[in-house]
Amino acid sequence: MRYVSTRGAAPPLAFDEALLTGLAPDGGLYVPEEVPAWAEAEIRALADLPYAELAARVMAPYLGGRIAEADFASLVADAYAGFGHGAVAPLIQLDHNTWLLELFHGPTLAFKDHALQLVGRLFDHVLGKRGARVVVIGATSGDTGSAAIEACREREAIEIFILHPKGRVSEVQRRQMTTVLAPNVHNVAIDGTFDDCQNLVKAMFNDESFRDEMRLAAINSINWARIMAQIVYYFAAAVALGAPGRPVAFAVPTGNFGNVYAGYVARRMGLPISRLVVGSNRNDGLTRFFESGVLTTSAVQPSLSPAMDIQVPSNFERLLFDLYHRDGKDVASAIEGLRTDGQIAVGQARLDEARRLFEAYRLDDEGTIRAMAQIHDEAGVLVDPHSAIGVAAARACRRDSETPVVALATAHPAKFPDAVEKATGIRPALPARLSDLLEREERVVSLPDDLGAVEEFVRARVALKGAA
Ligand SMILES: *Cc1c(COP(=O)(O)O)cnc(C)c1O
Repeated sequence: MRYVSTRGAAPPLAFDEALLTGLAPDGGLYVPEEVPAWAEAEIRALADLPYAELAARVMAPYLGGRIAEADFASLVADAYAGFGHGAVAPLIQLDHNTWLLELFHGPTLAFKDHALQLVGRLFDHVLGKRGARVVVIGATSGDTGSAAIEACREREAIEIFILHPKGRVSEVQRRQMTTVLAPNVHNVAIDGTFDDCQNLVKAMFNDESFRDEMRLAAINSINWARIMAQIVYYFAAAVALGAPGRPVAFAVPTGNFGNVYAGYVARRMGLPISRLVVGSNRNDGLTRFFESGVLTTSAVQPSLSPAMDIQVPSNFERLLFDLYHRDGKDVASAIEGLRTDGQIAVGQARLDEARRLFEAYRLDDEGTIRAMAQIHDEAGVLVDPHSAIGVAAARACRRDSETPVVALATAHPAKFPDAVEKATGIRPALPARLSDLLEREERVVSLPDDLGAVEEFVRARVALKGAA
């Protein structure tokens, strides 16, 4: 199993190389050269397996023998052992045939833990074998920093630095990051905005000598291994609902297109997925694409579902690669068109092909609040704004009453308590294991919005580790 770039101008890599490389040198994203096709019997054999065992089996073909089977099984078991629900990704029934797949039982209460808990361990394992170390640097507006920190804490081969805008993230978000006291975790509060933080991170990656000296790495959402880990729960849910004998549809609250793309890969492996419904908020670039075949850049507007406030989703290039029959040159020129003309138009035939599986749905903030209230009234279930869009999409796009539709719940309601309270009158409580969050000790360093100061800090912390 090798990985090729969606732009066709980078050498193919093995799994561990693609893992550490992230973005391909030609600017493309890595995808498997061939998606493994599973026989019905192989899918059927997944029934009744505990989550971690099912996960190891579904992902095994993607490793191409680069990680020993027993090592991988124990990394996977360890990654999901810390989840707060024994089923890891439990399915809750909402009505006759609508289901909620709860992907928020990881340490930071969002679905990104599913991928990051494994990817952090994979990085550590692969780097450890090579006797290498990396420095992971990222910026957060509050939503995703904690998932990266939880993924990297106590990993020997990784130092992680997360920049957040000082005083501009909620107390719970800040504490989810700053109360992690592991010695390889460095929280930096920057005197500035999220954009300032992001610009500092970009500048560090662009500073070639700093980048090479520190061995900077990103664990961002375009890493193939993150997609791989997300394929698993589509299998787990579909098999629990009767696959391979029965088709299942999924509705996915979508931002960067990584989660729903994993469903697409599951379908290509042979899982009987009848439809994938892409849910958007007012930032409806994807919805417009699946209606018109044209993807346009437009300004991002804030919404109640901030993880979906994206207009040009980075993982969409992976779908384009298949729509352009895996011709990297065509993909590269389509992406170039986005830069020069502000749009990609794929044409009717490709749109028809995409629409055979995908459809899209949009819901504004008002609709999201109404959906949250309705789900609570009818099923007694509290959902966060992202998950509410998934459920509304599932209901709006239902074709028949026989096919189960699974809405992916991507965040715990307690991550968005204000919106949940506004919709239902109930303020959701944090799960017991986080209930003392507000009393825990914090560790964070404040720095000015100054590249030199931040680089100096990173260098000094990394040097300290080298000496230890
Ligand atoms: C990241 C995120 C999403 C969007 O997922 P993509 O893979 O980027 O499409 C949706 N909901 C929540 C809560 C998220 O954190």
